[in-house]
Amino acid sequence: MNLDDTIVAIATPPGRGGIGVVRLAGPEARAIAKPMLRLNRELEPNRAQHCDLMDPCGAGAPTRETADPASAHVGTAAPGRPAEQSSGPTPPNAGPSPNREAAPFVSPAPGPPPRPVLAWWGGGPKRWEGEMEITSPGGTPPRIDEVVVTYFAHPHSYTTDDIVEISAHGSPVVLRHIVELALAQGARLAEPGEFTMRAFLNGRLDLTQAEAVRDLIDAQTLFQAKVAAQQMEGALSNRLKPIKQKLVDLIALLEAGIDFAEDDVSVAQDPTILDRIAQVKGPLVQLAATFTYGKIVHQGLTLAIVGRPNVGKSSLFNCLVERERAIVTAQPGTTRDLVSETVAIGGIPVELVDTAGIRRVPENAEAESIGIKKSIEALADADLVLVVLDQSQPRNEEDEHLLRQVKSRSAIVVENKSDLLSSCGDGRLARPSRAEPGRVSPAEPNSPPRIPTSALTGEGIPALREAILRHVAGDQTTQTESGFLTSVRHQKLVTDALVSLDAATNAVAARVPHEMLLLDLYGALRPLDEITGATTTDDILNLIFSTFCIGK
Ligand code: GDP
Repeated sequence: MNLDDTIVAIATPPGRGGIGVVRLAGPEARAIAKPMLRLNRELEPNRAQHCDLMDPCGAGAPTRETADPASAHVGTAAPGRPAEQSSGPTPPNAGPSPNREAAPFVSPAPGPPPRPVLAWWGGGPKRWEGEMEITSPGGTPPRIDEVVVTYFAHPHSYTTDDIVEISAHGSPVVLRHIVELALAQGARLAEPGEFTMRAFLNGRLDLTQAEAVRDLIDAQTLFQAKVAAQQMEGALSNRLKPIKQKLVDLIALLEAGIDFAEDDVSVAQDPTILDRIAQVKGPLVQLAATFTYGKIVHQGLTLAIVGRPNVGKSSLFNCLVERERAIVTAQPGTTRDLVSETVAIGGIPVELVDTAGIRRVPENAEAESIGIKKSIEALADADLVLVVLDQSQPRNEEDEHLLRQVKSRSAIVVENKSDLLSSCGDGRLARPSRAEPGRVSPAEPNSPPRIPTSALTGEGIPALREAILRHVAGDQTTQTESGFLTSVRHQKLVTDALVSLDAATNAVAARVPHEMLLLDLYGALRPLDEITGATTTDDILNLIFSTFCIGK
């Protein structure tokens, strides 16, 4: 990937919208942008300028020669224009338009000779033969749009390159045309994530910050966005920095002991080394533990609602998603397929999955048995399971079987239809309530909490939400610390570092020479460097940035 190219891409999402932004980054960004713009004054860093976007393929447009002082050379090829054409007759009506300041565009200046690039007047954006031309009064090139152009000068820009952002109306046709014009002027189409990759390669962001840019864009909830924003500020890198420093100090101490052994430099004693390894390991173990929560924050979780038919699974599902999403009927076995909906619980996206009732079915009930198979799969895949029971019915073998299945899983037992227990409709108790709606029953050790609910009256639903939230939020202490592991990549590298630190601890115990011990310590340092991208192979970088969208 050439960092000296000027790259271009539409930076806003595909489709129509109020505005759309095309971003150009690289040394030629201004020179490439200018010919398509009718600027009133020179582009100034960090200042937006309102101007017209012209169609330079139409008559009367300036070339890059006339638009940019740096490339104004008489008789050379205008970029995008074959040499023999550019030195030939000027296109009719070419030259500065009335409302354009001539000076910045025509003053000749020495500079690198323009390179031959794609056809400009005759080429550029493909057109059907016979496409009509709009002619403007006075022969000025036709206006395509009104745009706002912002220029960020090197090195004070997102990528540290010169950047020009053209905010046009969000018409895909116009945005594509701007990109095509830029390509015709010598820009290259940006690869996915290339702007952020440049920011990383140019040292403006470390790798965790670059990854956080992607996470921020992909965030489904505001909470996820805030976590990504923290990471973008360097929360994880800042947490890693002192850990890494301690490791580097220890390595330096041991290296000095080896290098200057003859000079009476005191060699570190084993207890000191062990203590200093422990000082690195402790915070790293804590950091590794943040992944359980970080993964949930990053990916969200899946919650499967299971139970036998007619216990009220779909009704509960609808209560939790707060709309009539799943069909509720009194007839057992009506839910055949999985119904899912994602809701934000405590800022975490939770995919709720309503499943078909699990029960023994006759062999000819093919559709229902396929549904049951899917339910069992959903149960196996879920991060959290709600096992729904009908409180008004005695538990049967199917209920017991499900309860056994979730024994060692993250699960909540929902005792639904509590309204049928508490009254006969005239206020009298029908039979002693096993559990009051909304009150979480104290669970036996290691067994899931039990929550009585009524999907019909809504009683107990807030308590159920709270129980889900408790599961989602996890350990409160993890949340209060900023900078946690959110990606499998980070988690794997921290684990690798811990493995090497364990090996180093064992090496000290085995009294191996310090040269050997150092290998383990370097083995721990390498993955920590890889997290921030201080040392990362091109393959890994390409893999990471290929998950970005184009234009970011
Ligand atoms: P599913 O088959 O488990 O998904 O159960 P549904 O949600 O389709 O509900 C089955 C029947 O039970 C429907 O007639 C619901 O109106 C009824 N139902 C669901 N929840 C409750 C509840 O809490 N109390 C009462 N009385 N009826 C309920």
